[in-house]
Amino acid sequence: MHFSPAADDRHVGGHGAFHEGATLLYERPLILTRQITVQVKRAGRDFHTRTLPLAALEPAYGRLEPEVEHTMKHSILALMTAAAISACATATPEQQIIGDAASALGGRDRILAVKTLVIEGEGANGNLGQDMTPEAAGQAFMLSGYKRSIDVSAGRTRVQQTRTPNFEYFQGQAPQQQVLGVDGEVGYNVAANGNATRVSNAVAKDRRAEIFHHPITIVRAALDPAARLANPRTAGGQRVVDITTASGLAFTLAIDEGTRLPTRVVSMTDNPNLGDVAVETSFADYQDVNGLKLPAHLTTKTDTVTTADIRVTKQALDADAGNLAAPAAAASAAPVTGPPPVIVSTEEVAKGIWFLAGQSHHSVLVEFKDHLMLIEVPQNEARALAVIAKARELRSGKPLTHAVVTHHHFDHSGGIRAAVSEGLTLIAHKATAAFFTAAIGRAHTIAPDALARNPKPLKLETVDEELELKDETRTVNLYHIAGSPHADTLLMAYLPKERILVEADVFSPAAAVQPYAANLLENIKKRNLKVDRIVPIHGAIAPFTELLKTETH
Ligand SMILES: [Zn+2]
Ligand SMILES: [Zn+2]
Repeated sequence: MHFSPAADDRHVGGHGAFHEGATLLYERPLILTRQITVQVKRAGRDFHTRTLPLAALEPAYGRLEPEVEHTMKHSILALMTAAAISACATATPEQQIIGDAASALGGRDRILAVKTLVIEGEGANGNLGQDMTPEAAGQAFMLSGYKRSIDVSAGRTRVQQTRTPNFEYFQGQAPQQQVLGVDGEVGYNVAANGNATRVSNAVAKDRRAEIFHHPITIVRAALDPAARLANPRTAGGQRVVDITTASGLAFTLAIDEGTRLPTRVVSMTDNPNLGDVAVETSFADYQDVNGLKLPAHLTTKTDTVTTADIRVTKQALDADAGNLAAPAAAASAAPVTGPPPVIVSTEEVAKGIWFLAGQSHHSVLVEFKDHLMLIEVPQNEARALAVIAKARELRSGKPLTHAVVTHHHFDHSGGIRAAVSEGLTLIAHKATAAFFTAAIGRAHTIAPDALARNPKPLKLETVDEELELKDETRTVNLYHIAGSPHADTLLMAYLPKERILVEADVFSPAAAVQPYAANLLENIKKRNLKVDRIVPIHGAIAPFTELLKTETH
């Protein structure tokens, strides 16, 4: 039996009911192939027959393609007979895709026998969420000494690489060594000094998924009888199938219709800023390695941003992958289920102005005559909500109405959805507007946040070169920091009466490298601002002379 899969699949209705208005006429479980042949009568007029994996009867995995309707032309009896004769010998369409991919790669048995995969090369990591504008893609960390080792059956992997920023990085442009691994449930990083730390469960889960972002590992997982295959379809010259691995991770695999080699693997994950995002790895430049075909060019996109582009210089199957076990310090550490508990310290730096610090990213609360305004709702929902709560506690009699966002970088805009969920109006540079508007509207179904649970519209006031916020009691001038090598969306806040400047990232007191300080000074001089103190989003409050000192370095 054959039918053409459809691109615009419709979900099958839930809880055993097949389709709205459809009646299940008969079912024949075919245990050997884990499939079921069903005939569907929809709305009392059409008859369809198709073969589905048993998993397809589960609401989340079932699909019913319109094209199946062409089978109506056959008589029901003929279909029943054909199904009875051929069922045991015929793979389902989804199994056919996996079987074709396995054959093209070098054969099912060879793939199942793979123990380790070691890939060496060079390439680049994109600077997701941290480039000059939300839309820019010019910044990258250039990778050298890249080595990705996978112990296929043990579920362990480790990436070692040296990355060198091709841009003015806040830590300087010296090469940085990285070791990023996962061993079962334990994700870890090893610092250049050898110290291992456990990473969050969310990061570990992403790294476990990444193991299957390779043709051999995903097809091997799909060949596992415990894997569930569903939703075979054709799109853009590729045959596509959904795979849920035995361990419950979900992927979509596409293979080329001609060569039948895998072209890409997609999985979904949560990104706190972007919500539900697709992580897609594309495969190209296949080469012969020890009896299998392996791609020599792997490109990974997270949402629309290229986050990894790797050109393989050397790769080996079943070579010694080294010890891929998690280091003891990480393995024995408690699971990291979320960001660390939030600490918000308060310091009144001038009358009606509070420095809300305590951890890495600070905020500043400014009191006006009849309302309050925060400068920065940073990092993530947890910190943003804690800062908002602290602001309301400090001046419970006045409404908190506005939040200034210093720039679009993900660690500084990670709280905007939380702020919108609390009814605040955002104030940000105009170059953030399209991105922030999209960010507020994006789906967060994988890890629903406060805004997903309580949707509210975005209220955004944008700033071009400057904006004065003034009433009888307070003046705050917001200025665009022009020409900064850090970002093109930066706003600084100047309080002329208090001679205070609030800024993020362009001067972090006590930081070893200050690549953006000279440009900040230019902007201060150009505006002829009289500054006594810098109240920074990173680091401790510093006298203006600290910024001047960077000039001599
Ligand atoms: Zn930044
Ligand atoms: Zn920062």
